[in-house]
Amino acid sequence: MNVVLGGGITGLLLAQNLKDVLVIENQPKLGGVFSYDEILDFKVPFHPPLLHSSCAPFNVKEVRLRIFSKKENYLLKKLNIQELPPWLFFKEKMYYVDNLIDIIDTLSKKVRVFHSNIRKINEENIITSKGIIKANKIFVTISKKFILESLGKKSNLKSISIAEIVAVIPKRDIGWDVYINGDNGVSFSHVINAYWLSELYNVLYVIIPFSGSLPIWDKIFSDLKREKILTKDEIIGLRSRIVRDAILIGDEENNLPERFKLCGRLGKWKNLTLCETVQDIHNC
Ligand SMILES: Cc1cc2nc3c(=O)[nH]c(=O)nc-3n(C[C@H](O)[C@H](O)[C@H](O)COP(=O)(O)OP(=O)(O)OC[C@H]3O[C@@H](n4cnc5c(N)ncnc54)[C@H](O)[C@@H]3O)c2cc1C
Repeated sequence: MNVVLGGGITGLLLAQNLKDVLVIENQPKLGGVFSYDEILDFKVPFHPPLLHSSCAPFNVKEVRLRIFSKKENYLLKKLNIQELPPWLFFKEKMYYVDNLIDIIDTLSKKVRVFHSNIRKINEENIITSKGIIKANKIFVTISKKFILESLGKKSNLKSISIAEIVAVIPKRDIGWDVYINGDNGVSFSHVINAYWLSELYNVLYVIIPFSGSLPIWDKIFSDLKREKILTKDEIIGLRSRIVRDAILIGDEENNLPERFKLCGRLGKWKNLTLCETVQDIHNC
């Protein structure tokens, strides 16, 4: 049997082209970074997929972004990285992928998924929270660092996590669509106003980078209020999540056994864009 570790877009696209395949995913929802939830009767992705240029198999719509930044020169220092991942680089004209939820839904129905957490992996077995699985070929779209360490190899790969808040508020002109803040004293680094998702509401995505302990929600909301972005009172729909290993740092030789194939942003441990991820599927 072939096993795909991780049910993000890479895992789902890979699985549809494989025979006798099982996808193992630890979250209740598939789609990884771009999984979604229904808020106020419409489907809202946990992060808005934005591209600099379009690529197959995506349908895109052009969006105009008014970018406002404060202390942007300090952003890299605040994030503690050398360069921004491409998905945190915004331009005035970008493309929103408006069929990603449909793609995830369609693929989810086609593939066989086992929802459990992968605890450990060795040369023979995949040990999950719900049992042991044997596989011939293992397509790794989860953390390469975890796999290396599981197989007893040392790794110096590092990452920054993010907390992401999705807040739906009644429509009003906020004055910007991407807000960037490089001030270390402010908990969030970016807010994206996905105004194009609804005629009635603004959907705000607040990105809070962190390493180590989890961010403090009261501090985030008091920062949002102080920066005049939003107050708790005006929120009519709210979701939040943590993305571990959001910004990936470091590189390492792949000296893994032949049957392990490293794919996607986490398997390759590269800050790939959505288009690069899809194109890279043929090289894993
Ligand atoms: C926050 C964020 C925003 C981004 N925004 C954009 C954007 O706007 N435009 C763009 O071009 N690119 C963007 N990217 C990059 C883009 O998301 C990726 O290139 C692509 O979506 C990665 O898909 P993936 O399936 O490889 O990884 P992921 O989507 O991360 O999927 C990995 C899957 O593996 C699962 N998993 C992890 N560990 C385990 C485990 N132990 N057991 C079981 N399952 C596990 C996860 O739950 C997840 O479903 C963004 C990346 C991040 C992190």
